[in-house]
Amino acid sequence: MTDTGRTLLVTGGAGFIGSNFIQFWLDTFPQDTIRNLDALTYAGNLANLTDVADLPNYVFIEGNICDAATVERAMQDVDIVVHFAAESHVDRSITNPAIFLETNVLGTHQLLQSALAANVGHFHHISTDEVFGSLELDSQAQFSEDTKYDPRSPYAASKAAADHLVRAYGETFGLQYTITNCSNNYGPYHFPEKLIPLAITNAIDDQPLPLYGHGLFVRDWLYVEDHCRAIASVIEQGEKNTTYLVGGMDEEITNLDLLTLILSLMDKPDSLIKQVADRPGHDHKYSVDWSHINTTLGWSPSVTLEEGLQKTIRWYQDHQDWWRPLKEAQAEYFAKQYQVDRK
Ligand code: NAD
Repeated sequence: MTDTGRTLLVTGGAGFIGSNFIQFWLDTFPQDTIRNLDALTYAGNLANLTDVADLPNYVFIEGNICDAATVERAMQDVDIVVHFAAESHVDRSITNPAIFLETNVLGTHQLLQSALAANVGHFHHISTDEVFGSLELDSQAQFSEDTKYDPRSPYAASKAAADHLVRAYGETFGLQYTITNCSNNYGPYHFPEKLIPLAITNAIDDQPLPLYGHGLFVRDWLYVEDHCRAIASVIEQGEKNTTYLVGGMDEEITNLDLLTLILSLMDKPDSLIKQVADRPGHDHKYSVDWSHINTTLGWSPSVTLEEGLQKTIRWYQDHQDWWRPLKEAQAEYFAKQYQVDRK
């Protein structure tokens, strides 16, 4: 820690959640310094960070978390590691699983090794509820901190392996860690290949909204700013070597109802929804019991899904210069992945 505050190493800070987190943290704790280590893969975008780029207490390091020398250098004099960097898109893990193992497993391991060597006091690992597998659609069950791991996609398996490694470094080597497993995030700076930003940006252009299969699968949606607040409260007040689940909902919603809600908030017709072939091994339902973080740390979501979607739609309407180049650069991927007829 310096006289002026703490030094955080944030990995993957040019991605969706990481960039929201950096802005949130520097707004909340302006005395702290953030080093952002990011390889700038297709998902990393420095345009997410223009508001903080010139701050004296923000430093960007372009580099790969699998690279020992880079990580060791970045880890010097760090008080807290906040680890977001990952390959994060389930569909891509089905077409190319190997990179998921490299970044999510070996990269996490490199960070753990270097954090231990540098005597870092706190390692916070961001994980997903997808490590718990899938719930039955007709079940009232929810994921909790006690749910058995049962990952079903290469992405979820790689995140599960990373979670186990973090805990193993706590047990075996005494590394002080916390883990958050969160549900699906949405909000500003979400890469437009994911369901909600793809739906909003396609709807802005009156293009079809791809919907996997029958659309009756259920997800738990978490507004990204609420997620950042949850991570901050775990880092600030959470019990060490403990896991917290973070979810955003009290009620269930199917993917079909979600798209219908987005279209109604945007005053667009339901006829824009177009079914596409389902994803292999598509998980049926995720539902997160977030009562542990609520009762122990007092965290709860600050917005309903409808309020969060309204903010998100407004953001995508106002930031077309941010998402249009990203969509254009990935046009071939979108066309192959979501084979809907273009009007
Ligand atoms: P993202 O794909 O938007 O961003 C990932 C970032 O990591 C990018 O900036 C990318 O350049 C960087 N990165 C990738 N490989 C790297 C490497 N080898 N070295 C350094 N940087 C690398 O992801 P996101 O949606 O912001 O997710 C962040 C974290 O949250 C991930 O660990 C993900 O598993 C987890 N998570 C995300 C969600 C969600 O809904 N988005 C839900 C649950 C958990």
